[in-house]
Amino acid sequence: MSEKKLGVNTICTHVGEIKDKQFKGAVSPMYLSSSYEFLDVDVKRYPRYFNTPNQEYLSKKIAALEGTETAMIFGSGMAAISHMFLAFLSKGDHLVVQNTLYGGTVNFIKEEFPKYGIEYTFTNGYEVKDFEAAIQSNTKLIHIETPSNPLLTITNIKAIAELAKSKGILTSIDNTFASPINQNPASYGIDMVMHSATKYFGGHSDICAGAVASSKEHMDRIWNVSKNLGGSLSDMTVWMLERSMKTLGLRVKAQTKSALKLAKWLNKHPKVSKVYYPGLKSHPEYKLAKAQMKGFGAMLSFELDKSLDSETFQKALKLIKSSMSLAGIESTVISPHLTSHALLTQEERNAVGISDQLIRFSVGIENLKDLKKDIEQAMNA
Ligand SMILES: *Cc1c(COP(=O)(O)O)cnc(C)c1O
Repeated sequence: MSEKKLGVNTICTHVGEIKDKQFKGAVSPMYLSSSYEFLDVDVKRYPRYFNTPNQEYLSKKIAALEGTETAMIFGSGMAAISHMFLAFLSKGDHLVVQNTLYGGTVNFIKEEFPKYGIEYTFTNGYEVKDFEAAIQSNTKLIHIETPSNPLLTITNIKAIAELAKSKGILTSIDNTFASPINQNPASYGIDMVMHSATKYFGGHSDICAGAVASSKEHMDRIWNVSKNLGGSLSDMTVWMLERSMKTLGLRVKAQTKSALKLAKWLNKHPKVSKVYYPGLKSHPEYKLAKAQMKGFGAMLSFELDKSLDSETFQKALKLIKSSMSLAGIESTVISPHLTSHALLTQEERNAVGISDQLIRFSVGIENLKDLKKDIEQAMNA
């Protein structure tokens, strides 16, 4: 069967299964060997070569989901992003990077790039002209994040890919927030699609992992760096990740559906002054999101009315947890001004639109009526 023709839930369930030839078990066996035969074998396998059976086969599922030739799994999302950057950027090269970006990525660029002599420019905004303005003669890579954290801005993926191609520059995207269920950037010409697998891929808040999906040519370059840096994932966790990813499509579709309903409900709520969700017609990039995404995702943010204290509200929630991470099957909230943007001054936060009233909401799979009830009671607390 051609994998291209399979539906997304079939890919999630079956692509990259390892057949249990010995015992005919229903699921992939877990291969924990860190030592494999060296002589007379086609593939010299070793965990840090990213090619143990479980790593190799789960990569096929990720590649099939993103529609790329191949993929690689890493020990964390940051391992994926750092190995990817270091594979395509050397001393004297320049990175153009979107200004609204996951905090860990910002830290990596600011703290590590100077040590490698790699130059970078954060864009002034997320429109195509902002990226164009930041390009230099030594720019080798453009990195984007859409939808972005925490204000869910939408960057035009196809336009950025075309801009980069016209100048011989490679492109990468952090596709964590959308997941491959809602967005496939490789189909718009993006070269490297990166994920924190800690989020939707894992989906149960019990796995830390990362992934990059790309062409064989680009992945070979990443592999050449990764085998030296060594950010591979343990096969026990790879196996757990495979188990989790079987329900990725079901989970994300259910979460996305709930997020749209909650966004609409919150948008009309008298105690909410603003909702940020690309699926709302009032979102400035609603049309773009509709064109480039299959679903609007399960992350949204909202601003509580000034009459409410955002910390009191979060503490009063009973079902919804306050949590740093996101994308699990359980709903969670967080205050960006206390977490991802805590190191900025109040003025800097105001400039990027992060108010103290802002709540980022990762929508889980709970029943909508229970989530609404919980939010309602916390607002009245
Ligand atoms: C969590 C996250 C990362 C980093 O992933 P880790 O698995 O924590 O290393 C990168 N990008 C986004 C958008 C994330 O949410």
